[in-house]
Amino acid sequence: MESIFNNEHHPVIISGPCSAETEEQLFITAKGLIENCNLSAFRAGIWKPRTRPNSFEGKGAIALPWLQQIKKKFNIPVTIEVANAQHVEHALKHDIDILWIGARTTVNPFSVQEIADALKGTKIPVMIKNPIFRDLSLWVGAIERIYQSGSYKIAAIHRGFAAHNDSPFRNVPFWEIPIELQRLFPDLDIFCDPSHICGNRELLPSVSQFAMDLNFKGLMIESHFNPSSALSDADQQITPDELKLMLSQLKYKKSSLKNGELVQIEQLRSAIDDIDMQLIDIIYNRLNLIKEIGRIKNKSNISVLQLNRWKKILETRTVKGSEKGLSSDFVKDLLELIHKESVRVQIEGNTASH
Ligand code: PEP
Ligand code: MN
Repeated sequence: MESIFNNEHHPVIISGPCSAETEEQLFITAKGLIENCNLSAFRAGIWKPRTRPNSFEGKGAIALPWLQQIKKKFNIPVTIEVANAQHVEHALKHDIDILWIGARTTVNPFSVQEIADALKGTKIPVMIKNPIFRDLSLWVGAIERIYQSGSYKIAAIHRGFAAHNDSPFRNVPFWEIPIELQRLFPDLDIFCDPSHICGNRELLPSVSQFAMDLNFKGLMIESHFNPSSALSDADQQITPDELKLMLSQLKYKKSSLKNGELVQIEQLRSAIDDIDMQLIDIIYNRLNLIKEIGRIKNKSNISVLQLNRWKKILETRTVKGSEKGLSSDFVKDLLELIHKESVRVQIEGNTASH
């Protein structure tokens, strides 16, 4: 896997409107971004995958020459979304520099394979957004399919995941998923797309800061010279000036640490290692007690699940947790996980003894 953006400043900024609407809109937006935001690539959607029909579905191929103009006038790489082989052909014919695969396409291995086949022999760089659903293997599969097509310059884009829970986000970040992706592919550049995570302008700074704290390679962020008039995603786009201000207010992590800081971090990490080992011992001891109880329950024909006891555990532990400043959601999730394992171990113990 190779980097698409080499030797560039950090964070790498990819920006432009959700959709290409007019030649003028692209020109004004690109000019603002290039003058103010240290832009590494200009994005615009040409074919828009809309959830419902009869909304603006993008200008289609007529917008491709507009992007060629932007590329020529400002000497900036341009990137568009492709969802099928025909899109890839159009993009190649119009000198598009980088392609991206959208969240609604990454979910479908047939579509990703169709794109991979169309890419064979081109070596054009491709950025792959996470699938809409919280499924890491679909994301990995899409990356593998594109890599196998011979397009080795690949980046991933984290744009959040659809979720049914009440959430302030349009797409919930579930940061553990891109973190796991990075663990699987240490050389892969991962970008964050705060625009589609947030769905509104207000949350953009905090999500962008979070991505910087996690050392993402850069941001793909939607910008429009007049967001309220945008034909798609009007609520989440910001002007180039607003983007400039937001970028200037982010705190960037140093990529290398000083010796003293390194020693301090190493000391803290070794203390954490010790605590984690103790945690495993404690959980092991707890499970042994659970097995003991399980044997007694089984002998006396008492059911495994004792609801009152479980309620009491939840109550007392969350109270203790909040005294220590732990979030009650976290304590509850942790206890549920432990309880699930305890029930499993007891039931398994019972069936083993039959
Ligand atoms: C987009 O970038 O405009 C877009 C449609 O994104 P996503 O595939 O993440 O929904
Ligand atoms: Mn969009």
